[in-house]
Amino acid sequence: RPLAAVSGAEIQAPLIHGGHVRYANLDYGASAPALSVVSAYLNEILPFYASVHRGAGYASQISTSVYENARAIVRDFVGGRPDDSVIFTRNTTDSLNLLAGCLPVTDGRPDGDVLYLDIEHHANLLPWQGVPHRSIVAADTIAETIDAVRAELRQGGVSLLAVTGASNVTGEILPIRALAALAHEHGARIAVDAAQLAPHRRIDITADDVDYIAFSGHKLYAPFGAGVLVGRPDWLDAGTPHLAGGGAVREARLDGVSWATGPARHEGGSPNVLGAATLARATQVIAELDQDRWHAHESAIRSFLVEGLQEIDGVTVHQIFKDTNPDTDTIGVVNFSVEGYDAGLVAAYLSAEHGVGLRDGRFCAHPLLKRLGLPSGSLRASFGVGSRLEDAERLLAGIRDLRTKGLGWDYVVDAGRWVPAN
Ligand code: PMP
Repeated sequence: RPLAAVSGAEIQAPLIHGGHVRYANLDYGASAPALSVVSAYLNEILPFYASVHRGAGYASQISTSVYENARAIVRDFVGGRPDDSVIFTRNTTDSLNLLAGCLPVTDGRPDGDVLYLDIEHHANLLPWQGVPHRSIVAADTIAETIDAVRAELRQGGVSLLAVTGASNVTGEILPIRALAALAHEHGARIAVDAAQLAPHRRIDITADDVDYIAFSGHKLYAPFGAGVLVGRPDWLDAGTPHLAGGGAVREARLDGVSWATGPARHEGGSPNVLGAATLARATQVIAELDQDRWHAHESAIRSFLVEGLQEIDGVTVHQIFKDTNPDTDTIGVVNFSVEGYDAGLVAAYLSAEHGVGLRDGRFCAHPLLKRLGLPSGSLRASFGVGSRLEDAERLLAGIRDLRTKGLGWDYVVDAGRWVPAN
C-alpha cells in the first residue's frame, strides 16, 4: 500500500506485445511524482498568478506572501537556524553552483579549497571545478572514509567540505553529523547535497551542525523547476550575485551597483513562485509522515527487491561501502546489473515488455561508476512514498523472465539508446 497518494500513480503504460499495464514507476530517484496534495495546492494558488515584490495589486500581495512563506516552511523542514538564508533556485545543481560563487575570498584570493569525495553526483563535483578544490577517494568502509577525510582536513587549507547526504547511485547514507564535526574541528564548513536524502530522511541542520544544504523540488514530490539552498548568511551575502538582474540590487547606477543582501541578492528576475510554493507544500507533507512507518515502508520494498534480485542467477547488487546497514543507512534505491545484458537494453526491455520504468546508465556519477567497475553503467530502481511492493514484484518478474526466456522483442541502438525495433 502506498504511504501517500501521488498524482499519476495510475498511468497506463503501453506494452510492445499489445495492451496496457499499470505503470510501475521505479524511478523516484530521478524525479518523484507530485503528491496529490501538492497538485491540489498548485491549483489553489494558480488564480493568484502574479509577480512578487513588484506590485501592489491583490494577486501580487497573495503571490508575494505565498513565496515568502515558502521560505519559512522550508527553513522549518531542514531545521534551519533563524538567520539562515533560504534561497530559491532552479534545482540542486543551481544551488551548488550558487554556493561555488560565494566561497570566501581575502584580498582577491580564495581562503581555501573545496574538498569532496569521488562518489558524488556531478552536481556536487563540477561546480567546484572553477574554484580551488581537492578530491579524495572514498574507502571501502564508511569508517575508513571518515579517517581519509580527517587526514585530508588535517593538511589544512580546506574552506568547505561538500558531501552528499545519500548516494544517488546506491542510496547509501553518509554520516553527516560526524563529517560536520570533523569539518568544523579543522576550520572548514560543510555543504550537504541533500537531493536524495531529503525525500527519504528527516533533516536537521541545526542539530547536525550543517552549514549549507541543497535539494530539488522535483525529487521531493513537487513539480520541476524549483530547488533551494539554505545556509549561513555571511558567505551568501558577500558572494557573487547568482543571477544579476531585477530585484538583486539595492541601488543600480550607471557607474556601479550596490547589491542587495539576503536571498534577493541571488534571485534576480521574476522568481518561480509556483515552484517554490509547491516545493514548500511538499516538505510539509513529508514532515508530517510518521517516521517509523515511512522508513518501514521504503525498507520493506528495498529488502524485498534486494533479496529477490540476489536470488536470480547472474544478477549483482552494487554498493559502495562494506559497512552500511541496509535497513538504517540506505534510502529507497537499489543498484544492480544483469550479466550478459547491457543496462540500457534491460531498461528498454523492462519498459517495453513489462511497463516498469527505471534508470540505467552512469547516473551523472562517472568517477563512482568507474571505481565500482561499471564503466558502461548499471540499473537503478528507486522508490518512495507512493510505491507499492507490487512495483518491485513486477521488476523481479521481468528480470526472471529475461533470464529464463530472453528478450521477447528485437532491440536496436538508436541515438545511443536501446529501443524496441519495429
Ligand atoms: N545530487 C544528487 C545526489 C542527485 O541525485 C541529483 C539528481 N540526480 C542532483 C544532485 C542534481 O539534482 P538536479 O538535477 O535537480 O539539479
